[in-house]
Amino acid sequence: MNAFQKLGLDDHLIQAITDLGFETPSEVQEKTIPLLLEEDRDLVALAQTGTGKTAAFGFPMLQKINISSRTTQGLILSPTRELCLQITNEIKLYGKHCKGLNVTAIYGGASITDQAKQVKRGTQIIVATPGRMKDMISRRLVDISKIEYAVLDEADEMLNMGFYEDITEILSHTPEDKSTWLFSATMPKEVSIIAKKFMANPTEVTVGHKNIGSKNVSHEYFLVGARDRYQALKRLADANPEIFSVIFCRTKRDTQKVAEQLIEDGYSAGALHGDLSQNQRDVVMKSFRAKQIQMLVATDVAARGIDVDDITHVINYQLPDEIETYTHRSGRTGRAGKSGISMVIVSKSEVRKIKSIERIIQKEFTKKEIPSGMEICEVQLKALANKIHDTEINNEIEPYLNEINKLFEDVSKDELIKKFFSVEFTRFFNYYKKTKDLNSPSESSRSDDYAKDDNSARFFINIGSKDGYDWMKLKDFLRDTLQLNQDDVYKVDVKDSFAFFNTDNVHKSKVLEFFTNFKQDGRFINVEITEKKSRERNRSGGGRRSSGGGRGRNERSKGNSFRSEGKARRSDSGSSNRSPRRSSDFKPKGAGFSRPRKSRR
Ligand code: ADP
Ligand code: MG
Repeated sequence: MNAFQKLGLDDHLIQAITDLGFETPSEVQEKTIPLLLEEDRDLVALAQTGTGKTAAFGFPMLQKINISSRTTQGLILSPTRELCLQITNEIKLYGKHCKGLNVTAIYGGASITDQAKQVKRGTQIIVATPGRMKDMISRRLVDISKIEYAVLDEADEMLNMGFYEDITEILSHTPEDKSTWLFSATMPKEVSIIAKKFMANPTEVTVGHKNIGSKNVSHEYFLVGARDRYQALKRLADANPEIFSVIFCRTKRDTQKVAEQLIEDGYSAGALHGDLSQNQRDVVMKSFRAKQIQMLVATDVAARGIDVDDITHVINYQLPDEIETYTHRSGRTGRAGKSGISMVIVSKSEVRKIKSIERIIQKEFTKKEIPSGMEICEVQLKALANKIHDTEINNEIEPYLNEINKLFEDVSKDELIKKFFSVEFTRFFNYYKKTKDLNSPSESSRSDDYAKDDNSARFFINIGSKDGYDWMKLKDFLRDTLQLNQDDVYKVDVKDSFAFFNTDNVHKSKVLEFFTNFKQDGRFINVEITEKKSRERNRSGGGRRSSGGGRGRNERSKGNSFRSEGKARRSDSGSSNRSPRRSSDFKPKGAGFSRPRKSRR
């Protein structure tokens, strides 16, 4: 008797499990399956993503429903279309030996008539997203008045996404005496409210600790200067040639920008966020699943449906606003028994958040250094060597070998190897030899060094927290109004009625010009160049500044000379510093440095 039989599952289900290659039940399956088979009851199960929850409710449901009847008996609600389709597929696989089983997926963005047709054929199990389900009910295209089992999958995420009312509405069309099974990774207040409202005396099952990420995930953080964030991200990718990752940003805008920048720099990247059409999102997800995209840059909301098992790294390009979200992010890796790494890129102002996250996940972070340029060159070289070593010889090249061999007649093997590797190595080497160390000086040293930074201009602006700005909002405001990029505005420091920020010198005249006679809501917004540290202290003590006179003014009139710099190139986007992934004369398709590739191993 195998371990699944011991849980009480019927033979045809055991057969499907064997076909799927599942050997032992996961913890949540072991705990819930017998309970759900034993008697009809309400159940709340808390378990992280990737722990096999679908099978934990799927198999009992399949065993308990009457397949010879065409009545809809089971309803599974899930937060996203992605998940809805995944669950549908899984259930179909679990039930592949159940003759006459119909499972129907109901979700937005696809034809409602087709879905209605499928339902009409007689479906025993409906897997649905709340929005479309509500629609179908109100148009009387489904009948869930006889269901016996309702599953709320990923309940916390459904509530996060604002589906509370939809769920309430949907459940009001189901019979009182059904069994409700709620699955969730976390148990915030909202979930317990749902549990109280819709369930009678639910049995509670908890797997692992509440709110704790997978034990297969290790957590690392990297302390860098705020405007080195993107460079740091590139190094992390370069230092992990086999990376297959989700990169989280805070906003849709940043998500799009980081993805675009990565693509421009020659990485196989894609963006996933809510401003894309469903079709665009599907295309991106398809490429990601097929591993044609190595780096998927996503917002938290859009990433909810991602259920890809072998993600090697989660990279927090920015920390989430709510630290609880970190658990969801890091849960995208370390799935299905594999190990994963969750990396966080932080600047000094955010580093204290690491401590709070450690408390939530009850695990410690390792502080790591951003790899140096030479370390990356070494990693890339070794990866290339391994790849070449393992490459199968393609006999199609035979006819050309004669000529090639002739060319290399006088070259020794030793020399040949050196030349061969130099082709790619030199690219990385040339790129990295001039780059600086990105690791931010230790937390204790103060960040006053902009006083010494000649490349950078510090500005005073007469709006502050009184006007509803915090540093993030002000940064967004400046970037938007000035049409600057991602990291062009930095060291934003918001005080009560005024604030400071930096840009590179190249943008100085643009900023000053833009804010000459700039009015918002009938009020002049005044921006001036500020002297470095000492002045700032004076100001911090001094309340609102009058917008006339003072040194700032003088600086500014002198500033005419800056204007001529206006068209200068930003030093770090000059061609000499272009990403090594770009433009190489020699692009070996299979043996290149971590390029997109369809099948890995
Ligand atoms: P969750 O809903 O908890 O995030 P899933 O149900 O999506 O997790 O399962 C994650 C992956 O693990 C799926 O690919 C599933 O097929 C696989 N899986 C589930 N149960 C087992 C098992 N007992 N043994 C091996 N793999 C399993
Ligand atoms: Mg699931």
